[in-house]
Amino acid sequence: MQLYAIPTGNLKLDGGAMFGVVPKGIWQKQYPADENNLCNLAMRSLLIIDGDRKILIDSGVGRKQPDKFFKHYDLNGDDSLLKSLSKCGVSPDDITDHILTHLHFDHVGGSVFRNAQGDLELTFKNATHWVSQAQWEWATNPNAREKASFLKENILPIQEQGKLKLITEEGEILPNITAKIYNGHTSGQVIPHIRYGEKTVVFMADLLPTTAHIPIPYVMSYDTQPLITLEDKQQFLTDALENDYILFLQHDVFTECCNLKLTEKGIRLKDTFNLKDC
Ligand SMILES: [Zn+2]
Repeated sequence: MQLYAIPTGNLKLDGGAMFGVVPKGIWQKQYPADENNLCNLAMRSLLIIDGDRKILIDSGVGRKQPDKFFKHYDLNGDDSLLKSLSKCGVSPDDITDHILTHLHFDHVGGSVFRNAQGDLELTFKNATHWVSQAQWEWATNPNAREKASFLKENILPIQEQGKLKLITEEGEILPNITAKIYNGHTSGQVIPHIRYGEKTVVFMADLLPTTAHIPIPYVMSYDTQPLITLEDKQQFLTDALENDYILFLQHDVFTECCNLKLTEKGIRLKDTFNLKDC
């Protein structure tokens, strides 16, 4: 099995929204904000090549919304989804499986594009698109709070083009890939656990966006059920420490991977490293 980080570019989000009830004086020592109080965040996908399968987890923000929409997010960086895949010698048609942790626009935007005729097409047209049933139902009947993050044009073509595969329960969805489901950030967020030789690499998505979110109270204001996030994190961090998981961070612009250690204050960051060195 080979694993590759697939950087798709960065976006900026409000620092207060990223760290919830934690005061800025404390969080900014862990993760800096710019003069507009915005934190720069990566959108890092993961490519898994395992035998005949080429599996991609999440797809970044894409480029199909108008500039007016992207203006709020200050997109930056030189990477793009297709450029990064091509550096690994992979074309979009080669992708056999596309796992979507959830359907917020910064995770699924690259999965659908507008063709020259203006029609919506799947970027990975041969791929089975894996989404949890709970998230699919949640995203296609969105609540007022998350409505702006669930864009129909990112979501509906997956089903219309016959490529949707719903994950109904936790467990192994593909050889060496187990889906765990967490509900605090959004209902039915899938956190893929990848068996990589003797190790387990976990794609953290929005369960733990950056290393600064490791302490339990550092919960994003975006989370729909913050009390559930506290439980999700406690449970995950305990498992991760016990099993020495490698955490692959989707949103941390400074750190690709990390592991954990137990300190007198609780579970904390141990080492940071790149995926290719693990
Ligand atoms: Zn999200």
